[in-house]
Amino acid sequence: MKTVVRSIAGLAAAAGIYFAALGALCYAELPDADTAAVLEDTTVAAADGLCVILDAGHGGEDGGAVSVNGMTEKELNLSVVRTMEEMLTLCGVCVILTRSTDDGLYEGASAGHRKMTDLKNRLAVRRAYPDALFVSVHMNTFSDPSCRGMQIYCADNAASHSLAEAMRLSGCTYLQPDNTRACKTAGGTIYLLDRAEGCSVLAECGFLSCPEEADRLADPAYRKKLAAVLCRGILEYARAGGPEESAPDAQ
Ligand SMILES: [Zn+2]
Repeated sequence: MKTVVRSIAGLAAAAGIYFAALGALCYAELPDADTAAVLEDTTVAAADGLCVILDAGHGGEDGGAVSVNGMTEKELNLSVVRTMEEMLTLCGVCVILTRSTDDGLYEGASAGHRKMTDLKNRLAVRRAYPDALFVSVHMNTFSDPSCRGMQIYCADNAASHSLAEAMRLSGCTYLQPDNTRACKTAGGTIYLLDRAEGCSVLAECGFLSCPEEADRLADPAYRKKLAAVLCRGILEYARAGGPEESAPDAQ
């Protein structure tokens, strides 16, 4: 795993200011002076104007999937999103969260309407910032415990396809070299992506039904690397200039 972390940092140095900050963050401990220097450098990148909505799936009474080691999807999703928020903010990106606590987005709804209220409220956040990228973070589950690996879904438009491909490529390159899952266009089964306009993707970060992957996802250091590769995909997409360019040929 250390190799992966170092390769991100190494590429960061070559790729410029965004990745310098991201690479530095992949090291578990930074002296305060270095952290300050990273912050100072990356304020320059804020001029880019990139804005990202990060959507931690589930929350409150909706725990989502439960891992074989007892962790709930909602807490893992929020953990990854908060780390991504930290990384992207340091890179000068404007970040909006649909939720920043355990709570779902269904306050005031009656018991039978909470799930749909929650989804509609997330969609409302997406629609409130039409120019922002929208990245929903989830964990997968399946009856076959051998199924593993990140799977990226996208809304059916060119921008979403490009962002999804950049995130897939980053994940395969720096975290899961054996992952052969292609990006998929979301159909009606994924409410948010089916209705979201603009550049919108959903990352199923791993299978909680796979004991080995569940153990990795339970490790905060692994979740940090996961957050870093997702952020790198977002930044690569932004650096390539969006959907006009084909999938970014990184490095
Ligand atoms: Zn989910």
